Amino acid sequence: MKFNGTKLVGKIAIASVVAASLGSGNALAADQQFISIGTGGVTGVYYPTGGAICRLVNKNRKEHGIRCSAESTGGSIYNINTIRAGELEFGVAQSDWQYHAYNGTSKFADKGAFKDLRAVFSVHPEPVTVIARDGSGVKQLTDVKGKRLNIGNPGSGTRGTWEVIEEALGWKRSDLKLAAEMKSAETGQAVCDGKIDAYFWLVGHPSALTQESLATCDAHLVHVKGSAIDKLVSDNSFYRKATIPAGMYNNKEDIDTFGVGATFVSSASVPDNVVYTVVKAVFENFADFKKLHPAFANLKEEEMISDSLSAPLHPGAAKYYKERGWM
Ligand code: GLU
Repeated sequence: MKFNGTKLVGKIAIASVVAASLGSGNALAADQQFISIGTGGVTGVYYPTGGAICRLVNKNRKEHGIRCSAESTGGSIYNINTIRAGELEFGVAQSDWQYHAYNGTSKFADKGAFKDLRAVFSVHPEPVTVIARDGSGVKQLTDVKGKRLNIGNPGSGTRGTWEVIEEALGWKRSDLKLAAEMKSAETGQAVCDGKIDAYFWLVGHPSALTQESLATCDAHLVHVKGSAIDKLVSDNSFYRKATIPAGMYNNKEDIDTFGVGATFVSSASVPDNVVYTVVKAVFENFADFKKLHPAFANLKEEEMISDSLSAPLHPGAAKYYKERGWM
């Protein structure tokens, strides 16, 4: 075990105690390495993404000694900051925040560039998704002016991207009647109960929360387009136009929007063999991985190892991709 973080040292101690109390001198137990993946709210797609990766890693843990766990967290920006603090080995993060963290721009300007941030692979697309209560008068994003909108909890990528959109529209926070900061898992009920008019988030599709809101309350998806959005997309490489296809939920037509990619990231301080093992577990069981969440249905290996990645690839990941002849 070569990590230096105090949290990990604590975990090694536990692993040794377990080995000792078994009285077996079991080398495997003593050599266990624990890795944690920071995800998002339990009703999002990040949480099952972390769970899917860990499930495949843990399948062979007797051979490689790595035990993986997925933690529910506040989302992208929290995950990146916590990897930087050495308290998480991996995290799922929006591609816009991966870019800004590595370059020290936008919300990462104060802390400075996180040059040890490493890309591992990209996962599903995350369109900007707005779910509005029927009768709220919200038919497209700009209709939320003067309304009650959930803009995401602090630490979420959603919240960060809301603030970017707000600025692009030339709005102030007071342009909303209420800017709620609930965690994603709370927003569905709030829109059903009429406590908010709409909620905003960046998420893969289909997602459990979006599905539940649209199936159980009088609510609909809205378009996110217009000149401010066109400018954001043309000015920033990490944004692209996106659609939520007709029939994905209760929408009879395609929903036009824009979005980012969900990416899987780590730090240069996480050993190559650990990242190699994680990447190998996913890509050697790729057909199984794709079955673990419906948002993974269209994933392709060659896109996952190149699209939406702005930090350098972790060498442990690059080693595996080269072995497969993908690089
Ligand atoms: N993109 C969201 C965020 O970083 C999380 C989405 C999810 O939980 O699937 O805030």
